[in-house]
Amino acid sequence: MNDLTLYNTLTKRIERVASSGERFTVYFCGPTVYNRAHVGNFRTYLIEDVLVRVLKLAGYRPFVARNITDVDDKTIRDSQKVGMTLSKFTEKYTEIFHADCGKLNILPPDVEPRAAEHIGEQIAMIETLVGHGYAYESEGSVYFRVSSFEKYGCLSNVSGRELKTQALDSAGKRNMADEYDREDASDFVLWKARKPGDGENFWKSPWGEGRPGWHIECSAMAMKYLGETVDLHAGGVDLCFPHHENEIAQSEACTGKPFVRHWMHIAHLMVDGAKMSKSLGNMYTLSDIEEAGFSPDALRYCLISGHYRQPLNFTMNGLHAADNALKKLTKYGEILAEFSEIDVPSCPVTWSFLGDAYGALLSDLNIPLCLGNLFKKFGNIDVGELGHGKKSTLAGEFFALKYALGLRLERENVSIPGEVQALADARWEAKMQKNYALADELRLKIEASGWLVNDAQTSFSVEKSENF
Ligand SMILES: [Zn+2]
Repeated sequence: MNDLTLYNTLTKRIERVASSGERFTVYFCGPTVYNRAHVGNFRTYLIEDVLVRVLKLAGYRPFVARNITDVDDKTIRDSQKVGMTLSKFTEKYTEIFHADCGKLNILPPDVEPRAAEHIGEQIAMIETLVGHGYAYESEGSVYFRVSSFEKYGCLSNVSGRELKTQALDSAGKRNMADEYDREDASDFVLWKARKPGDGENFWKSPWGEGRPGWHIECSAMAMKYLGETVDLHAGGVDLCFPHHENEIAQSEACTGKPFVRHWMHIAHLMVDGAKMSKSLGNMYTLSDIEEAGFSPDALRYCLISGHYRQPLNFTMNGLHAADNALKKLTKYGEILAEFSEIDVPSCPVTWSFLGDAYGALLSDLNIPLCLGNLFKKFGNIDVGELGHGKKSTLAGEFFALKYALGLRLERENVSIPGEVQALADARWEAKMQKNYALADELRLKIEASGWLVNDAQTSFSVEKSENF
Protein backbone atom coordinates (compact mmCIF):
# COMPACT_ATOMS: atom_id res chain seq x y z
CA MET A 1 0.00 0.00 0.00
CA ASN A 2 1.19 3.54 -0.84
CA ASP A 3 0.39 6.58 1.27
CA LEU A 4 -1.66 9.39 -0.20
CA THR A 5 -1.40 12.88 1.21
CA LEU A 6 -4.05 15.55 0.71
CA TYR A 7 -4.74 19.03 2.01
CA ASN A 8 -7.26 18.82 4.85
CA THR A 9 -9.56 21.87 4.99
CA LEU A 10 -10.28 21.08 8.64
CA THR A 11 -6.66 21.19 9.89
CA LYS A 12 -5.38 23.49 7.09
CA ARG A 13 -2.47 21.11 6.51
CA ILE A 14 -1.41 18.52 3.98
CA GLU A 15 -1.85 15.19 5.74
CA ARG A 16 -1.63 11.50 5.03
CA VAL A 17 -5.11 10.08 4.59
CA ALA A 18 -5.83 6.84 6.42
CA SER A 19 -8.77 4.50 6.87
CA SER A 20 -10.18 4.06 10.32
CA GLY A 21 -11.45 0.57 9.51
CA GLU A 22 -11.51 -2.14 6.87
CA ARG A 23 -12.67 0.21 4.16
CA PHE A 24 -11.78 3.79 3.41
CA THR A 25 -15.12 5.54 3.60
CA VAL A 26 -15.75 8.43 1.23
CA TYR A 27 -18.71 10.77 0.84
CA PHE A 28 -19.20 13.11 -2.11
CA CYS A 29 -21.97 15.70 -2.30
CA GLY A 30 -23.77 14.74 -5.50
CA PRO A 31 -25.89 16.62 -8.01
CA THR A 32 -29.22 18.36 -7.55
CA VAL A 33 -31.14 16.77 -10.39
CA TYR A 34 -33.15 19.65 -11.86
CA ASN A 35 -31.04 20.33 -14.97
CA ARG A 36 -27.99 18.99 -16.78
CA ALA A 37 -24.71 19.18 -14.88
CA HIS A 38 -22.30 21.75 -16.36
CA VAL A 39 -18.53 21.79 -16.76
CA GLY A 40 -18.08 23.42 -13.33
CA ASN A 41 -19.96 20.55 -11.66
CA PHE A 42 -17.99 18.04 -13.67
CA ARG A 43 -14.66 19.50 -12.65
CA THR A 44 -15.54 18.48 -9.09
CA TYR A 45 -16.90 15.03 -10.00
CA LEU A 46 -13.89 14.31 -12.24
CA ILE A 47 -11.32 15.29 -9.62
CA GLU A 48 -13.24 13.12 -7.14
CA ASP A 49 -13.12 10.29 -9.66
CA VAL A 50 -9.34 10.59 -10.05
CA LEU A 51 -9.11 10.57 -6.24
CA VAL A 52 -11.06 7.28 -6.04
CA ARG A 53 -8.95 5.73 -8.79
CA VAL A 54 -5.71 6.78 -7.07
CA LEU A 55 -7.01 5.41 -3.75
CA LYS A 56 -7.70 2.07 -5.46
CA LEU A 57 -4.35 2.02 -7.19
CA ALA A 58 -2.57 2.90 -3.94
CA GLY A 59 -4.20 -0.04 -2.14
CA TYR A 60 -6.79 1.79 -0.05
CA ARG A 61 -10.17 0.13 -0.27
CA PRO A 62 -12.46 3.08 -0.92
CA PHE A 63 -16.18 2.69 -0.37
CA VAL A 64 -17.92 5.67 -1.94
CA ALA A 65 -21.33 7.20 -1.31
CA ARG A 66 -22.50 10.05 -3.53
CA ASN A 67 -26.00 11.35 -3.00
CA ILE A 68 -28.68 12.54 -5.39
CA THR A 69 -30.54 15.65 -4.20
CA ASP A 70 -34.01 15.01 -5.60
CA VAL A 71 -36.11 17.16 -3.29
CA ASP A 72 -35.41 20.86 -2.70
CA ASP A 73 -36.72 24.25 -3.80
CA LYS A 74 -35.24 23.99 -7.31
CA THR A 75 -36.40 20.46 -8.12
CA ILE A 76 -39.91 21.24 -6.85
CA ARG A 77 -40.11 24.58 -8.68
CA ASP A 78 -38.89 23.22 -12.02
CA SER A 79 -40.92 20.01 -11.92
CA GLN A 80 -44.04 22.14 -11.43
CA LYS A 81 -43.04 24.42 -14.32
CA VAL A 82 -43.09 21.49 -16.72
CA GLY A 83 -46.07 19.78 -15.08
CA MET A 84 -44.24 16.58 -14.09
CA THR A 85 -44.33 14.78 -10.76
CA LEU A 86 -41.20 15.43 -8.71
CA SER A 87 -40.07 11.80 -8.95
CA LYS A 88 -40.53 11.58 -12.75
CA PHE A 89 -38.78 14.91 -13.22
CA THR A 90 -35.78 14.08 -11.03
CA GLU A 91 -35.52 10.57 -12.51
CA LYS A 92 -35.11 12.13 -15.95
CA TYR A 93 -32.19 14.31 -14.85
CA THR A 94 -30.67 11.49 -12.79
CA GLU A 95 -30.56 9.36 -15.95
CA ILE A 96 -28.96 12.18 -17.94
CA PHE A 97 -26.40 12.64 -15.17
CA HIS A 98 -25.56 8.93 -15.22
CA ALA A 99 -25.19 8.96 -18.99
CA ASP A 100 -22.85 11.99 -18.84
CA CYS A 101 -20.79 10.32 -16.09
CA GLY A 102 -20.55 7.17 -18.22
CA LYS A 103 -19.24 9.13 -21.17
CA LEU A 104 -16.74 10.93 -18.96
CA ASN A 105 -15.57 7.57 -17.58
CA ILE A 106 -16.51 8.48 -13.99
CA LEU A 107 -16.73 5.32 -11.88
CA PRO A 108 -20.19 4.88 -10.34
CA PRO A 109 -20.23 5.26 -6.53
CA ASP A 110 -20.74 2.13 -4.41
CA VAL A 111 -24.00 3.59 -3.10
CA GLU A 112 -26.00 6.47 -4.51
CA PRO A 113 -28.68 7.34 -1.97
CA ARG A 114 -31.51 9.66 -2.95
CA ALA A 115 -32.78 12.25 -0.48
CA ALA A 116 -36.48 11.60 -1.17
CA GLU A 117 -35.97 7.92 -0.32
CA HIS A 118 -34.41 8.75 3.07
CA ILE A 119 -36.98 11.05 4.65
CA GLY A 120 -37.38 8.74 7.68
CA GLU A 121 -33.65 8.83 8.44
CA GLN A 122 -33.65 12.62 8.19
CA ILE A 123 -36.66 12.96 10.49
CA ALA A 124 -35.01 10.63 13.02
CA MET A 125 -31.89 12.79 13.06
CA ILE A 126 -33.89 15.98 13.50
CA GLU A 127 -35.79 14.39 16.39
CA THR A 128 -32.49 13.56 18.08
CA LEU A 129 -31.28 17.13 17.58
CA VAL A 130 -34.50 18.55 19.06
CA GLY A 131 -34.20 16.09 21.95
CA HIS A 132 -30.62 17.20 22.65
CA GLY A 133 -31.61 20.87 22.58
CA TYR A 134 -29.65 21.70 19.43
CA ALA A 135 -32.76 22.33 17.38
CA TYR A 136 -36.15 23.90 17.96
CA GLU A 137 -39.55 23.88 16.29
CA SER A 138 -41.21 27.07 15.16
CA GLU A 139 -44.48 27.27 13.19
CA GLY A 140 -44.07 23.74 11.87
CA SER A 141 -40.47 24.20 10.78
CA VAL A 142 -37.39 23.06 12.69
CA TYR A 143 -34.15 25.03 12.92
CA PHE A 144 -30.65 24.19 14.10
CA ARG A 145 -29.57 26.56 16.88
CA VAL A 146 -26.09 27.52 15.66
CA SER A 147 -25.15 29.24 18.95
CA SER A 148 -25.58 25.87 20.75
CA PHE A 149 -22.80 24.23 18.76
CA GLU A 150 -19.51 25.67 19.96
CA LYS A 151 -17.36 24.31 17.16
CA TYR A 152 -19.48 26.01 14.49
CA GLY A 153 -17.14 27.62 11.96
CA CYS A 154 -14.28 25.15 12.51
CA LEU A 155 -14.13 24.18 8.86
CA SER A 156 -14.64 27.46 7.04
CA ASN A 157 -13.37 29.77 9.81
CA VAL A 158 -16.55 31.76 9.37
CA SER A 159 -17.60 33.20 12.69
CA GLY A 160 -19.52 35.87 14.57
CA ARG A 161 -20.75 38.82 12.56
CA GLU A 162 -19.45 37.38 9.30
CA LEU A 163 -21.62 34.34 9.84
CA LYS A 164 -24.71 36.45 10.36
CA THR A 165 -24.07 38.60 7.30
CA GLN A 166 -23.47 35.56 5.13
CA ALA A 167 -26.53 33.80 6.49
CA LEU A 168 -28.66 36.88 5.82
CA ASP A 169 -27.20 37.24 2.33
CA SER A 170 -27.92 33.68 1.36
CA ALA A 171 -31.33 33.84 3.02
CA GLY A 172 -32.11 36.97 1.04
CA LYS A 173 -31.13 35.22 -2.15
CA ARG A 174 -33.32 32.27 -1.37
CA ASN A 175 -36.57 33.16 0.25
CA MET A 176 -37.02 35.67 3.03
CA ALA A 177 -40.39 34.14 3.82
CA ASP A 178 -38.56 31.13 5.24
CA GLU A 179 -36.51 33.22 7.59
CA TYR A 180 -39.08 34.93 9.84
CA ASP A 181 -39.52 32.24 12.44
CA ARG A 182 -35.99 31.55 13.55
CA GLU A 183 -34.48 32.73 16.83
CA ASP A 184 -31.31 33.91 15.16
CA ALA A 185 -30.53 34.79 11.54
CA SER A 186 -27.64 32.32 11.43
CA ASP A 187 -29.81 29.33 12.44
CA PHE A 188 -30.47 27.04 9.51
CA VAL A 189 -33.51 25.04 8.60
CA LEU A 190 -33.70 21.28 9.19
CA TRP A 191 -37.38 20.76 8.42
CA LYS A 192 -39.53 23.08 6.30
CA ALA A 193 -43.25 23.33 7.08
CA ARG A 194 -45.48 22.60 4.08
CA LYS A 195 -46.27 25.66 1.99
CA PRO A 196 -49.08 26.07 -0.57
CA GLY A 197 -46.54 26.09 -3.43
CA ASP A 198 -45.17 22.67 -2.45
CA GLY A 199 -47.98 20.81 -4.22
CA GLU A 200 -47.88 17.09 -3.45
CA ASN A 201 -44.29 17.23 -2.28
CA PHE A 202 -44.58 16.87 1.48
CA TRP A 203 -44.17 14.19 4.12
CA LYS A 204 -45.65 13.66 7.59
CA SER A 205 -43.41 14.43 10.55
CA PRO A 206 -43.70 15.03 14.31
CA TRP A 207 -43.86 18.77 13.47
CA GLY A 208 -46.57 18.43 10.83
CA GLU A 209 -46.40 18.06 7.07
CA GLY A 210 -43.34 19.36 5.30
CA ARG A 211 -39.99 18.32 3.88
CA PRO A 212 -36.39 18.27 5.00
CA GLY A 213 -34.04 21.20 4.50
CA TRP A 214 -31.16 20.48 2.16
CA HIS A 215 -28.20 20.12 4.55
CA ILE A 216 -29.62 17.32 6.69
CA GLU A 217 -29.78 14.78 3.84
CA CYS A 218 -25.99 14.50 3.53
CA SER A 219 -25.52 13.93 7.26
CA ALA A 220 -28.31 11.35 7.46
CA MET A 221 -27.26 9.41 4.37
CA ALA A 222 -23.51 9.59 5.04
CA MET A 223 -24.04 8.15 8.52
CA LYS A 224 -26.46 5.49 7.28
CA TYR A 225 -24.07 4.10 4.68
CA LEU A 226 -20.64 5.00 6.04
CA GLY A 227 -21.01 5.13 9.82
CA GLU A 228 -20.84 8.00 12.30
CA THR A 229 -17.31 9.03 11.33
CA VAL A 230 -16.43 9.25 7.65
CA ASP A 231 -12.79 8.98 6.52
CA LEU A 232 -12.99 11.55 3.73
CA HIS A 233 -15.67 13.97 2.55
CA ALA A 234 -15.23 16.06 -0.57
CA GLY A 235 -17.11 18.63 -2.60
CA GLY A 236 -16.76 21.89 -4.45
CA VAL A 237 -15.29 24.78 -2.47
CA ASP A 238 -18.64 26.60 -2.66
CA LEU A 239 -20.08 23.90 -0.38
CA CYS A 240 -17.57 24.51 2.42
CA PHE A 241 -19.83 27.17 3.94
CA PRO A 242 -22.58 26.84 4.88
CA HIS A 243 -23.33 23.30 3.63
CA HIS A 244 -20.38 21.37 5.06
CA GLU A 245 -20.22 23.50 8.18
CA ASN A 246 -23.88 22.62 8.77
CA GLU A 247 -23.23 18.95 8.08
CA ILE A 248 -20.58 18.93 10.83
CA ALA A 249 -22.87 20.72 13.28
CA GLN A 250 -25.86 18.42 12.69
CA SER A 251 -23.88 15.20 12.70
CA GLU A 252 -21.65 15.89 15.67
CA ALA A 253 -24.51 17.35 17.73
CA CYS A 254 -26.31 14.05 17.10
CA THR A 255 -23.52 11.57 17.81
CA GLY A 256 -20.93 13.45 19.88
CA LYS A 257 -18.29 11.98 17.54
CA PRO A 258 -16.18 13.61 14.83
CA PHE A 259 -18.18 13.48 11.59
CA VAL A 260 -15.34 13.60 9.05
CA ARG A 261 -11.61 13.05 9.49
CA HIS A 262 -10.46 14.57 6.21
CA TRP A 263 -12.22 17.34 4.27
CA MET A 264 -11.28 17.99 0.65
CA HIS A 265 -12.50 20.94 -1.42
CA ILE A 266 -12.14 21.44 -5.14
CA ALA A 267 -11.62 25.00 -6.38
CA HIS A 268 -13.90 26.93 -8.72
CA LEU A 269 -14.04 26.69 -12.48
CA MET A 270 -14.03 29.92 -14.48
CA VAL A 271 -15.09 30.02 -18.12
CA ASP A 272 -13.16 32.36 -20.42
CA GLY A 273 -11.93 34.22 -17.35
CA ALA A 274 -15.44 34.88 -16.03
CA LYS A 275 -17.64 33.30 -13.37
CA MET A 276 -20.14 30.85 -14.77
CA SER A 277 -23.65 32.26 -14.94
CA LYS A 278 -26.87 31.74 -16.79
CA SER A 279 -26.84 35.32 -18.06
CA LEU A 280 -23.39 34.89 -19.66
CA GLY A 281 -24.54 31.66 -21.34
CA ASN A 282 -21.28 29.98 -20.36
CA MET A 283 -22.59 27.08 -18.28
CA TYR A 284 -21.52 24.50 -20.84
CA THR A 285 -22.81 20.95 -20.60
CA LEU A 286 -21.16 17.84 -21.99
CA SER A 287 -23.49 17.98 -25.03
CA ASP A 288 -22.34 21.54 -25.79
CA ILE A 289 -18.73 20.34 -25.74
CA GLU A 290 -19.52 17.37 -27.99
CA GLU A 291 -21.38 19.61 -30.40
CA ALA A 292 -18.27 21.77 -30.58
CA GLY A 293 -16.48 18.65 -31.85
CA PHE A 294 -14.60 17.52 -28.74
CA SER A 295 -14.67 14.06 -27.18
CA PRO A 296 -15.66 13.45 -23.54
CA ASP A 297 -12.04 12.30 -23.06
CA ALA A 298 -10.83 15.77 -24.12
CA LEU A 299 -13.20 17.43 -21.66
CA ARG A 300 -12.07 15.06 -18.94
CA TYR A 301 -8.40 15.78 -19.63
CA CYS A 302 -9.05 19.52 -19.72
CA LEU A 303 -10.94 19.56 -16.41
CA ILE A 304 -8.50 17.38 -14.45
CA SER A 305 -5.31 18.93 -15.78
CA GLY A 306 -5.25 21.87 -13.33
CA HIS A 307 -4.41 21.46 -9.64
CA TYR A 308 -7.62 20.86 -7.71
CA ARG A 309 -6.86 23.59 -5.17
CA GLN A 310 -6.37 26.26 -7.86
CA PRO A 311 -9.24 27.81 -9.78
CA LEU A 312 -9.18 26.58 -13.37
CA ASN A 313 -9.94 28.76 -16.37
CA PHE A 314 -11.86 26.74 -18.94
CA THR A 315 -11.50 27.86 -22.59
CA MET A 316 -11.90 26.38 -26.06
CA ASN A 317 -8.12 26.79 -26.46
CA GLY A 318 -7.71 24.68 -23.35
CA LEU A 319 -9.86 21.97 -24.97
CA HIS A 320 -7.71 22.07 -28.12
CA ALA A 321 -4.58 21.73 -26.00
CA ALA A 322 -6.20 18.82 -24.16
CA ASP A 323 -7.00 17.16 -27.47
CA ASN A 324 -3.37 17.45 -28.60
CA ALA A 325 -2.05 16.10 -25.31
CA LEU A 326 -4.46 13.16 -25.60
CA LYS A 327 -3.17 12.38 -29.08
CA LYS A 328 0.37 12.13 -27.69
CA LEU A 329 -0.76 9.87 -24.84
CA THR A 330 -2.74 7.73 -27.28
CA LYS A 331 0.43 7.26 -29.32
CA TYR A 332 2.34 6.12 -26.23
CA GLY A 333 -0.49 3.66 -25.63
CA GLU A 334 -0.20 2.37 -29.18
CA ILE A 335 3.56 1.78 -28.83
CA LEU A 336 2.76 -0.36 -25.78
CA ALA A 337 -0.36 -2.00 -27.21
CA GLU A 338 1.31 -5.43 -27.49
CA PHE A 339 0.93 -5.65 -23.70
CA SER A 340 -2.52 -6.06 -22.28
CA GLU A 341 -3.79 -3.53 -19.78
CA ILE A 342 -3.50 -4.56 -16.17
CA ASP A 343 -6.55 -5.10 -14.05
CA VAL A 344 -6.25 -2.24 -11.59
CA PRO A 345 -6.22 -2.38 -8.63
CA SER A 346 -5.78 -6.15 -8.22
CA CYS A 347 -2.39 -6.17 -9.96
CA PRO A 348 0.43 -4.49 -8.03
CA VAL A 349 2.61 -2.16 -10.07
CA THR A 350 6.37 -1.80 -9.73
CA TRP A 351 7.51 1.70 -10.52
CA SER A 352 10.76 1.89 -12.49
CA PHE A 353 10.02 4.44 -15.20
CA LEU A 354 6.99 6.50 -14.25
CA GLY A 355 7.38 6.60 -10.47
CA ASP A 356 7.68 10.41 -10.52
CA ALA A 357 4.36 10.74 -12.30
CA TYR A 358 2.68 8.36 -9.83
CA GLY A 359 4.38 10.07 -6.90
CA ALA A 360 2.86 13.39 -7.98
CA LEU A 361 -0.63 11.87 -7.69
CA LEU A 362 0.13 10.61 -4.18
CA SER A 363 1.35 14.04 -3.18
CA ASP A 364 -1.82 16.12 -2.75
CA LEU A 365 -3.26 14.74 -5.99
CA ASN A 366 -0.97 16.84 -8.18
CA ILE A 367 -2.38 15.87 -11.59
CA PRO A 368 -0.60 18.63 -13.59
CA LEU A 369 2.77 17.50 -12.19
CA CYS A 370 1.87 13.87 -12.93
CA LEU A 371 1.12 14.73 -16.55
CA GLY A 372 4.26 16.89 -16.83
CA ASN A 373 6.44 14.07 -15.47
CA LEU A 374 4.77 11.56 -17.76
CA PHE A 375 5.46 13.59 -20.91
CA LYS A 376 9.02 14.36 -19.75
CA LYS A 377 9.80 10.68 -19.26
CA PHE A 378 8.44 9.65 -22.65
CA GLY A 379 10.45 12.49 -24.19
CA ASN A 380 13.62 11.09 -22.61
CA ILE A 381 13.36 7.39 -23.42
CA ASP A 382 13.42 5.61 -26.73
CA VAL A 383 10.75 2.99 -26.16
CA GLY A 384 11.78 1.14 -29.36
CA GLU A 385 15.23 0.51 -27.84
CA LEU A 386 13.86 -1.12 -24.69
CA GLY A 387 14.05 -4.88 -24.35
CA HIS A 388 10.83 -6.85 -23.96
CA GLY A 389 11.05 -7.07 -20.17
CA LYS A 390 11.60 -3.36 -19.64
CA LYS A 391 8.97 -2.48 -22.19
CA SER A 392 6.51 -4.69 -20.35
CA THR A 393 7.32 -2.91 -17.06
CA LEU A 394 6.82 0.47 -18.72
CA ALA A 395 3.51 -0.71 -20.17
CA GLY A 396 2.28 -1.78 -16.71
CA GLU A 397 3.12 1.64 -15.29
CA PHE A 398 1.62 3.51 -18.21
CA PHE A 399 -1.66 1.59 -18.07
CA ALA A 400 -1.82 2.07 -14.29
CA LEU A 401 -1.56 5.84 -14.76
CA LYS A 402 -4.08 5.72 -17.61
CA TYR A 403 -6.46 4.02 -15.17
CA ALA A 404 -5.74 6.55 -12.41
CA LEU A 405 -6.43 9.48 -14.72
CA GLY A 406 -9.45 7.68 -16.15
CA LEU A 407 -8.50 8.46 -19.73
CA ARG A 408 -9.85 6.20 -22.44
CA LEU A 409 -7.17 7.08 -25.04
CA GLU A 410 -9.19 5.57 -27.84
CA ARG A 411 -7.11 4.95 -30.91
CA GLU A 412 -9.10 6.77 -33.48
CA ASN A 413 -11.19 9.60 -32.33
CA VAL A 414 -14.39 8.33 -33.88
CA SER A 415 -17.34 9.99 -32.25
CA ILE A 416 -20.09 7.64 -31.20
CA PRO A 417 -23.48 8.52 -32.73
CA GLY A 418 -26.03 9.69 -30.19
CA GLU A 419 -28.47 6.83 -30.85
CA VAL A 420 -25.74 4.20 -30.41
CA GLN A 421 -24.62 5.80 -27.16
CA ALA A 422 -28.24 5.89 -25.97
CA LEU A 423 -28.65 2.17 -26.76
CA ALA A 424 -25.39 1.41 -24.97
CA ASP A 425 -26.44 3.45 -21.91
CA ALA A 426 -29.81 1.70 -21.84
CA ARG A 427 -28.08 -1.68 -22.17
CA TRP A 428 -25.75 -0.93 -19.26
CA GLU A 429 -28.71 0.18 -17.18
CA ALA A 430 -30.56 -3.05 -18.07
CA LYS A 431 -27.48 -5.09 -17.14
CA MET A 432 -27.18 -3.28 -13.81
CA GLN A 433 -30.86 -4.09 -13.18
CA LYS A 434 -30.03 -7.74 -14.02
CA ASN A 435 -32.45 -7.61 -16.95
CA TYR A 436 -30.16 -9.71 -19.11
CA ALA A 437 -32.73 -10.46 -21.81
CA LEU A 438 -33.18 -6.75 -22.52
CA ALA A 439 -29.43 -6.16 -22.29
CA ASP A 440 -28.81 -8.85 -24.93
CA GLU A 441 -31.50 -7.47 -27.19
CA LEU A 442 -29.94 -3.99 -26.98
CA ARG A 443 -26.46 -5.40 -27.64
CA LEU A 444 -27.73 -6.96 -30.89
CA LYS A 445 -29.19 -3.61 -31.92
CA ILE A 446 -25.87 -1.89 -31.22
CA GLU A 447 -23.97 -4.52 -33.21
CA ALA A 448 -26.41 -4.20 -36.08
CA SER A 449 -25.41 -0.53 -36.27
CA GLY A 450 -21.74 -1.48 -36.60
CA TRP A 451 -20.63 -0.85 -33.00
CA LEU A 452 -19.40 -3.02 -30.17
CA VAL A 453 -19.73 -2.65 -26.41
CA ASN A 454 -16.97 -3.80 -24.08
CA ASP A 455 -17.81 -4.29 -20.45
CA ALA A 456 -15.32 -3.68 -17.68
CA GLN A 457 -16.07 -4.33 -14.02
CA THR A 458 -17.78 -1.05 -13.28
CA SER A 459 -18.23 0.64 -16.64
CA PHE A 460 -18.40 -0.03 -20.36
CA SER A 461 -17.02 1.37 -23.57
CA VAL A 462 -18.30 1.51 -27.13
CA GLU A 463 -16.11 1.09 -30.20
CA LYS A 464 -16.52 0.86 -33.93
CA SER A 465 -16.80 -2.73 -35.12
CA GLU A 466 -13.96 -3.60 -37.49
CA ASN A 467 -15.92 -6.27 -39.33
CA PHE A 468 -18.77 -4.03 -40.25
ZN1 LIG B 1 -23.69 17.49 0.89
